[in-house]
Amino acid sequence: MATGSPHEAVVLVTGGSGLVGSALNHVISTADDPRFARRQNERWVFVTSKDADLREYEQTLALFEKHRPTHVIHLAAFVGGLFNNMTHQADFLRYNTLLNDNVEKVVSCLSTCIFPDKTTYPIDETMVHNGPPHKSNYGYAHAKRMIDVANRAWNEQYGCKFTSVIPTNIFGPHDNFNLEDSHVIPGLLHKCYLAKRDNTELSVAGSGTPLRQFIFSHDLAKLFIWVLREYEEIDPIILSVGESDEISIKDVADGVVSAVGFQGEIAWDRSKADGQHKKTASNAKLMKSLPDFKFTPFNEGDCWLSKKRKCPKGNR
Ligand code: NAP
Ligand code: GDP
Repeated sequence: MATGSPHEAVVLVTGGSGLVGSALNHVISTADDPRFARRQNERWVFVTSKDADLREYEQTLALFEKHRPTHVIHLAAFVGGLFNNMTHQADFLRYNTLLNDNVEKVVSCLSTCIFPDKTTYPIDETMVHNGPPHKSNYGYAHAKRMIDVANRAWNEQYGCKFTSVIPTNIFGPHDNFNLEDSHVIPGLLHKCYLAKRDNTELSVAGSGTPLRQFIFSHDLAKLFIWVLREYEEIDPIILSVGESDEISIKDVADGVVSAVGFQGEIAWDRSKADGQHKKTASNAKLMKSLPDFKFTPFNEGDCWLSKKRKCPKGNR
């Protein structure tokens, strides 16, 4: 993105009310670091499904005509945790494909759960299309893979610079805390809050052994801003903490229990699915470009939910 240009850059962020969109809004409005702060001649517009249902062509067109964006960060998606994906494969495929069709530019969002199930580790950016995804989320995964296909086609035919990022699991404020369709951290926080209030045990799905890399939403927001401004490739880039920062679902449950101050027992419900055992991703490509980037450690990223802990500066 040209800086110091006399022309205004209009950055349209779809999915502006979600976990990642809210973090982006927070970071671009409050960051002191000039790499992540709003620049002169930049106008950021955050939109939600109330502004336009991006599955609808006419509404999408009207949104683009209204704001005339020069850049788009496309976050809008039909998003859910493991259990919601397993029971709504067709919806995830259909809705996410429709969303991708109408948004034409620039930085779109994939996910590490779209990689092949049978793979070598660590996973890297070259492996997106190497084999079928895990059966628990094949609808979501195939729709997301098509973003990369579209980016390449538009680049080949029209020279467009459309790219995508691949975040690992994300956590932070403004997540979906529903009991049924949420991701593991907000889901367990809600369940743990109820278990503490009702003096019951905390039931946690699966065996606790699966491994995940979690990125704090405000860190991810900074990386999105860097990608928008500096990253020139069409090929996707993984936005993740390091491989050594991978933790188990048991670690997550322990972290939630400690943050909520729950004193009762954890009951592991092995009748519920574990999902993919792991999807360990390499952040080598990212760290080559941004060797000094500091990730918020997982046990500090929960500062926003525990009033007792001091939140590191810049992550509020
Ligand atoms: P989220 O919290 O569920 O928010 C989804 C956003 O998309 C909301 O702003 C929602 O608007 C908007 N949206 C949904 N359907 C829409 C439609 N038909 N038309 C217009 N807008 C629509 O999602 P998130 O967790 O921030 O995810 C952001 C991106 O990161 C997604 O592309 C997701 O696939 C990807 N990702 C997420 C994770 C994760 O752990 N959460 C991990 C890897 C990748 P309303 O509020 O108006 O409904
Ligand atoms: P995934 O990385 O796409 O699988 O995303 P999730 O955030 O849904 O994490 C799923 C992992 O957490 C699986 O191993 C589940 O068995 C485990 N898990 C434990 N309790 C919960 C819960 O309450 N909700 C969800 N979504 N997963 C849970």
